[in-house]
Amino acid sequence: MIDKSPIGNTQFPEDCDGTQGNLPVEAGNCSVIHTCDICPKVIFESEKALERHIEIRHKSLMEGINFLLGKEHSDFTIELSDEKRAALGAKAFDVAKKRDAGHGMLECASIARQQLQRIVDVWHPGAEVFIFGSSLVMSSWDGKSDIDFAVVDPHAYVQRKWPPEEKNAVRELTDLCKSAGFKVSSLECVDTARVPIVKHKTLQDSLLNTVANTKPAEKARRSICLTYRSEKVKTTEALRAWLEKETETATIEEIIDEGQCNATVTFTTSTNAMVAMIKVNNGQKRRLNEYFSARIMDERFPPEAHCIDFDLCLRQFGIRNSEYLRKLHTLYDNSPFLRSGAVVLKEWSKLWGLNNSFMGFLTSYAINIMWIFFLVKRDVIPYASPYDTPENPREALREPTYVPILPQSAGSSEVQIKMGSLLADFFKFYATEFDWEKNVVSLNRPGITTKKSIGWTSENEIKLSRQSKNVQYVVCIEDPYEPNLNLGRHLGVCKARKIKAEFRRAALSVINDNADECIMFTSKYKKQVQVPIKEPPREIFEEVQKVVYDSFGSTGAQFTPDSLRQMLIESCPNAFQALSNYWNWKILVRRLGLRQVGDQIHKRACFDFLSEKLRGKPAFKVPVQGSPIKAVGRDTIDDCAVAPVCTPNIVKASFTPFSPLSRQHSCGFQRLHSHSLGNVLKMLRFTRI
Ligand SMILES: [Zn+2]
Ligand SMILES: [Zn+2]
Repeated sequence: MIDKSPIGNTQFPEDCDGTQGNLPVEAGNCSVIHTCDICPKVIFESEKALERHIEIRHKSLMEGINFLLGKEHSDFTIELSDEKRAALGAKAFDVAKKRDAGHGMLECASIARQQLQRIVDVWHPGAEVFIFGSSLVMSSWDGKSDIDFAVVDPHAYVQRKWPPEEKNAVRELTDLCKSAGFKVSSLECVDTARVPIVKHKTLQDSLLNTVANTKPAEKARRSICLTYRSEKVKTTEALRAWLEKETETATIEEIIDEGQCNATVTFTTSTNAMVAMIKVNNGQKRRLNEYFSARIMDERFPPEAHCIDFDLCLRQFGIRNSEYLRKLHTLYDNSPFLRSGAVVLKEWSKLWGLNNSFMGFLTSYAINIMWIFFLVKRDVIPYASPYDTPENPREALREPTYVPILPQSAGSSEVQIKMGSLLADFFKFYATEFDWEKNVVSLNRPGITTKKSIGWTSENEIKLSRQSKNVQYVVCIEDPYEPNLNLGRHLGVCKARKIKAEFRRAALSVINDNADECIMFTSKYKKQVQVPIKEPPREIFEEVQKVVYDSFGSTGAQFTPDSLRQMLIESCPNAFQALSNYWNWKILVRRLGLRQVGDQIHKRACFDFLSEKLRGKPAFKVPVQGSPIKAVGRDTIDDCAVAPVCTPNIVKASFTPFSPLSRQHSCGFQRLHSHSLGNVLKMLRFTRI
């Protein structure tokens, strides 16, 4: 749940505080600015102008979306046979089951928490380790995904003295983890992030499985190797006495003298072994003329905390909303349907790009709120106010108690029919029933919340600030706790349509496809979209520019679109061909400083400026296309896009800096590309199924 993405970071919404001051329009002025959420720097005076921009500029992108949002799909009923609904439900349970590795695995996570608690005890007595995030909400764990831990001193929190200085705190905790035997290579102290964390990644697959399920591991994970040089400690008896004093407990089961001042010490539990390791290693600083150090006896079988991937932060924010969601996910008769559906919808939304906070779409958390809101609306679960869950983490669970994800009789067709019906109805609800224009998806109060009633109207939107700080109210999903936080704030006109289209698509697939082929469960119909890298190599463009400027400038020729195209094909066929891999005709004409009016090509104001720049430059001829290889993008963002086929020369040329856009900009033209445009395009575009 810890999310360090630049856009759409719903877990740590501080970046939105106070941005209201950035409003570019005076409050009294009241005129609403229209912006495109793909081209962040362009302003439109009216909704109509924006629509026209989207229609022209994002035509290919919106084609599939408009197809799904079209009138012919606006009204439908989902009437499915019981067989079909049971098949959908059974499939959903199959997906959900994978998310639950059973009671034993969750137990390991709890033991890991207790071990981290012992580390924290050394650091700050009174601070407590909480498990939050999806393993707490679901009350089960898949044995693989990251566990989220929060370290909070509830007493200090009440006095507003928590969190402490986080940078130092995560550094100190990282050091303590190292003395507890954590491998340096698998620990990362992320102290420069907005929310500093200690990050642990095991570098070994299914380490926990090995440790939890093999016989020799049982004893090994309770044992440590001790090396000591001391005048006072010469025998194993003396060592036992020293250790018991040092660790303030009597938990030693066995000491084996390995000779040369080495001993293997086995404790009653793996947690006790870890405590001993911390105390021995951490106490070394205060020892004079004595040396004691402890390490894990067998690297293959370390204590549980070493075997799981986790993020550890010092903020309490996630504890309360996890606790609220956990209650909803476990307390009611119908909670098993809520749990199973939540798993399915998380996977569906990730698969189809609605759930991608990095790209400014939604988070799993937001999708889950939508699912719960729907279930409350349908009286499947009762309404429960988020404010009934206390703010003070003292009341919250430290770790989940295991509850299987599936309902008890998931095999019965009656239960499967219910699951299938709920999922189908969910898609229909958001595709056709829910009024996105007027209403807010909200658990903050029972009944309907309108945008107007909480002031989430277009007058209060924040646009034209840094894109990640923009707040829009097109798609409204209210965060249960963070005041005035819209979880859909980064969705503008285009992205909102994508979201709505995905609900339509899922609903249509539920109706038309059989359960195995339903896009709720499969990516079979998802096509890899090819996105060209955003700018062509400078040399190619310059060759075309030169041809155009020469013929316009010296001969004063008049062109129609056809004759211009013909002239380019004759004068610079390779360059023209290569350019059309990047730009369509309309954009090419524009970039050349021209304008197409009816059947005539005219110069624009910047034409002379552009041609002046090129004068005197030596001509460059694009070589004939050789064996095609893939071009590589100029920076990492381009790497995400699938590059078009290019010659090696073009690949080489594409690494040189190039800025026709900034040149045009200086002539008074708006920039039309955001840095991550290629990525956004990739997210938005899809083909018909
Ligand atoms: Zn746009
Ligand atoms: Zn934000």
